[in-house]
Amino acid sequence: MKIIREPLALKEYLQTVKSRLGFVPTMGALHEGHLSLIQKAKAENDFVVVSIFVNPTQFLQGEDLESYPKKEAADIKICELAGVDVLFMPNASAMYEKDEVSLQAPNVRGYVLEGTSRPGHFSGVLTVVMKLLNLVNPSRAYFGKKDAQQLHLIGLMVKNLYMNVTIVAVDTVRESDGLAMSSRNVYLSKEEHQEALKISASLKTATNLVMQKNFSVAEIKAAMRQTLAPLEVVYVEILNRDFEPLHELEVGNSVILVEALVGSTRLLDNIWL
Ligand code: AMP
Repeated sequence: MKIIREPLALKEYLQTVKSRLGFVPTMGALHEGHLSLIQKAKAENDFVVVSIFVNPTQFLQGEDLESYPKKEAADIKICELAGVDVLFMPNASAMYEKDEVSLQAPNVRGYVLEGTSRPGHFSGVLTVVMKLLNLVNPSRAYFGKKDAQQLHLIGLMVKNLYMNVTIVAVDTVRESDGLAMSSRNVYLSKEEHQEALKISASLKTATNLVMQKNFSVAEIKAAMRQTLAPLEVVYVEILNRDFEPLHELEVGNSVILVEALVGSTRLLDNIWL
């Protein structure tokens, strides 16, 4: 496995690669969720590039940019064992100039849900993903359904800007107790981990209602909030796959999203029904 830290060195190196290239962008502190993206990329391509970059422009003032978990040595091992061909690990100063061109997330879909409490977050995400895709120029890029709004906005960027890459969505990997895997789970104490199980339980509540043929968005959301109590709910939302509001859940075209604070850790989860 080759480790590259300079953006233009990566671009130059990859120009010699003629095979189908799969790309998995991450912020590191790799877990089994990331690994499933890498494995899917391995299965569907001849050459796999993984990036590890904690992108400063997607963090707001006061967020956990400085304390975001870092496990460089373990991450390198994981990528090596998974058969990654190139691991790209740049510094922020190598990726950004002081005064830059950047992308703007869409005014509505970029500023609802996670974008309400993190305005500008998705502009930072889209800008770095665009930079990374331009450096790597992959046939396919892999993103987790766990970050459903991010996945949706990246799909929209590729469509709106006529980009030549296929975005592949990968199912959420969970702990055996149901908690969606996340690098931020290390912030949780044992007690908080138990509390956090209410998040996946609320999605189960929703699924059970839908199985009983209750499609009322208002009723499903109310039942989910009951399951989530006493957690501080940031949002519970039921949207169609284009991220537009629904009154009645449409099976096969819906996504149920939840974000809650457990202690001071914000956790996301969702289910596609
Ligand atoms: P991150 O390092 O958190 O920015 O995540 C990098 C990629 O891994 C994103 O596309 C995430 O959606 C994806 N990802 C994170 N957690 C999981 C998970 N539990 N299951 C599947 N994909 C995940």
